[in-house]
Amino acid sequence: MQAATRVAVVCSVFFKTLICYLHSAVADTCGTRLSPTPVEGESGTTMPTIFTKIINREIPADIVYEDDQALAFRDINSQAPTHVLVIPKKEIAALSELEDGDAELMGHLFVVVRKVAADLGLENGYRTVINCGSDGGQTVDHIHIHLLGGRSLSWPPG
Ligand code: AMP
Repeated sequence: MQAATRVAVVCSVFFKTLICYLHSAVADTCGTRLSPTPVEGESGTTMPTIFTKIINREIPADIVYEDDQALAFRDINSQAPTHVLVIPKKEIAALSELEDGDAELMGHLFVVVRKVAADLGLENGYRTVINCGSDGGQTVDHIHIHLLGGRSLSWPPG
């Protein structure tokens, strides 16, 4: 190797090392990473949520339906004689985060709503609600359909 080539290789390695050092120093000083951070849900919390723990049986729930894509369980803070949450096992933070490829899954969730409503004897009707974001009253950043029934429900909601 000629002297000029050797100098060029040494300089190249030196500057690459210097750039790497400055990159990590800036990231540490700013308290942030320059690489991508985890995806955040609508109200700022990072998935997974408590609903993933229910799916994984890490915390208990009164489960009324399950298949490979969906889970339905009774709401812990019931707002009607029957109050069930129907959720996808896929972690989707909110209605506003849906992608085109989620269309079939969302259709499936509504078929699950119909099955659960029939199983729980809601023959006089029921209401479905999907809260989205802070203005919509969403408190858990894992998309869910509220299924409410067993009494006459007023309208409009608050
Ligand atoms: P939202 O306010 O639309 O996001 O609805 C979240 C719902 O999840 C509320 O109605 C809560 O009562 C319900 N919830 C929260 N934690 C649990 C839990 N561990 N088991 C069952 N329901 C829950």
